[in-house]
Amino acid sequence: MSDVVVIGGGVIGLTLAYELAGRGVAVTVLDQGPMGQESSWAGAGILPPGNPQQAVTPEARLRAHSHVLWPRLAEQLRTETGIDNGFRRCGGLEIREDGEPEQLDSEIEQWRTEGVDVERLDESGAIGHEPRLGRGLVAAYRLPQMGQVRNPRHLKALIAGCVARGVTLRPGCPVHSFVRLSSGSRVLAVRTLDGELFAGQFVIAGGAWSGRFLSELGCRTASVRPLRGQMALVSSLPPLIRHVVNVGSRYLVPRDDGRVLIGSTEEAVGFDKRNTADGVGELLAFGRRIVPALASATFERAWAGLRPQSPDGLPYLGAVPGASNLFVAAGHFRAGLQLSPITAVALTQLLLGEPTTVDVQPFRVDRERSGH
Ligand SMILES: Cc1cc2nc3c(=O)[nH]c(=O)nc-3n(C[C@H](O)[C@H](O)[C@H](O)COP(=O)(O)OP(=O)(O)OC[C@H]3O[C@@H](n4cnc5c(N)ncnc54)[C@H](O)[C@@H]3O)c2cc1C
Repeated sequence: MSDVVVIGGGVIGLTLAYELAGRGVAVTVLDQGPMGQESSWAGAGILPPGNPQQAVTPEARLRAHSHVLWPRLAEQLRTETGIDNGFRRCGGLEIREDGEPEQLDSEIEQWRTEGVDVERLDESGAIGHEPRLGRGLVAAYRLPQMGQVRNPRHLKALIAGCVARGVTLRPGCPVHSFVRLSSGSRVLAVRTLDGELFAGQFVIAGGAWSGRFLSELGCRTASVRPLRGQMALVSSLPPLIRHVVNVGSRYLVPRDDGRVLIGSTEEAVGFDKRNTADGVGELLAFGRRIVPALASATFERAWAGLRPQSPDGLPYLGAVPGASNLFVAAGHFRAGLQLSPITAVALTQLLLGEPTTVDVQPFRVDRERSGH
């Protein structure tokens, strides 16, 4: 029997399993499909910076701790599995093509307050960093510490790392429900296609699918729903840009091999992962506008993933009220890749009954509901 059963083999469940196994815990990860092929695979892998000493909000603290953990995790995975997950600090540009020149001032101030390096740029400064940007920029800044990870490679590394650490991975094993004590206060097992699986503790890390469990468990305050994000991939050699380029919620992410990811849409269409002509067309038009030379790049492919969105956009990290051995790590929305290292550390500490590195109270499952 495992000490811990993790439901969901995305970046959250796999990083948690890897961390727990590193602490000597016997872990089983169950996924309804293949491991690591949902939102975590579909994402862009943008890792915004942070500074744990000066982060002010609970969310910024999570981001800042992850910022510190990412290089260590990448190195550890490379050592243990031989897989390079492509983590690097490529820097990021935030730009605007229209509106007031001052429109990014409050964001720049916020980064400074958080103790994160930020450079305000005018158009020529931005073009100095990325000569192929289109002209006519009205506002820009640069975050030299912005990072990225090649998430499909990272997932491969996590899967290999979990195997190396003795984690039992069971793809194609959907969890249907929980077997609970009649008082409801403890979960004894999960019901799967292959029968009941008993364990000491359980973690729901089911990404956009976690909402079903939360409502079945009677969590009235918590919910998670899918928000589709479409992505287009183009390539061009030699590489056209070096920085992640953000324009609000749209972005370009350059990989070292000349590929550029263009993302992403935000669509409330349920569990529908199809690409649409409109979605992909808009992304390609956006890419060409920001970097005109992308017009002659090769179109490789498009895909879509389902972001796990909570009402306030923040993850749920903690115990399910009333069930002492059932935990949730879900609802990371647009930030699950970046927040996965600190999520794994904090959940491991909670499961082992240790004080947590970051305060997880603001992320508790029964926090006041806002949004949706
Ligand atoms: C287009 C796009 C771009 C993104 N870009 C970024 C980015 O740049 N940076 C960033 O940090 N984040 C980004 N994200 C968000 C990020 O991908 C997610 O927050 C993160 O992947 C969530 O991880 P997860 O493990 O919770 O979910 P998932 O990766 O979706 O994994 C959940 C797993 O649970 C399994 N599961 C569900 N129900 C069951 C069940 N009943 N039984 C067994 N298994 C089950 C699923 O099959 C799935 O494999 C992006 C997302 C999208 C879609």
